[in-house]
Amino acid sequence: MVVTRFAPSPNGSLHLGHAYSAVVAHDIARERGGKFLLRIEDIDGVRSLPEKPDEFREDLAWLGLEWEEVPAQSTRLVNYEEVAQFLFHEGLLYPCTCTRAEIAALEPRLGPEGAIYPGTCKGQNFDPEKPVSLRLDVDKALARVGEVIWEDETNGVMVADPRVFGDVVLVRKDAPASYHLAATLDDAADGVTLVTRGQDLFAMTHIHRVLQELLGLPVPEYHHHPILLDETGQKLAKRRNSPSLAQRRKDGEDGRELAARLRAGEFPAGISLANA
Ligand code: GLU
Repeated sequence: MVVTRFAPSPNGSLHLGHAYSAVVAHDIARERGGKFLLRIEDIDGVRSLPEKPDEFREDLAWLGLEWEEVPAQSTRLVNYEEVAQFLFHEGLLYPCTCTRAEIAALEPRLGPEGAIYPGTCKGQNFDPEKPVSLRLDVDKALARVGEVIWEDETNGVMVADPRVFGDVVLVRKDAPASYHLAATLDDAADGVTLVTRGQDLFAMTHIHRVLQELLGLPVPEYHHHPILLDETGQKLAKRRNSPSLAQRRKDGEDGRELAARLRAGEFPAGISLANA
């Protein structure tokens, strides 16, 4: 049975791009007789806003979607810690005390998620007084798992190349997991068989597939849908001023009608689908 999910982070209101993403994941599950899950990705204790999960549930109901909710990430921290410990003892993680400013000062190459960490702390002693993150030693990880592929419904068969990110953070200085570790573990724990998310997160799969191999997790398929762009060609973002779903609801817009228009590829003025 196909199991898809919508996994928003509660650090701002949902916008039209999220609505599109939720509708895509929901409809694939419905069309294939499967399940559609909602998972609140509140790993970021500082940026997560406590009122947002309820707002998200109201948004989804307003769009006419039905879902099953699985536990939020904040309830799974112990699990992330245990897995991080395991990877650390396997010698696959190393401590890093570098700050963003220190990394930027090294003028690193840029990858899909920003600066590619140049490995400064790898193999070094670290100052236990400083906050520490744990980074994946990507070369070691790749030596362990060999070639890894994934089936992507939108992009075909892909070969994972996590080197595009360098040694990513798996345990943050301020949280027991990064998005990569938490989302990969949760998709497995929640029985997700088809990871549905925007094409903007496509590159993340390079890392997630390698983590799945290292941890012996089941391998889902992937569906990366095109994302919505605003009139300037930029992706809609929580922090820019694309009207939120909550605002549209308050303004009396019909959510089911909006969902139907998104399904039909009819977008409000100025909004378009990337590469469409
Ligand atoms: N929590 C992520 C976000 O809101 C989505 C993660 C995912 O779908 O894998 O961007």
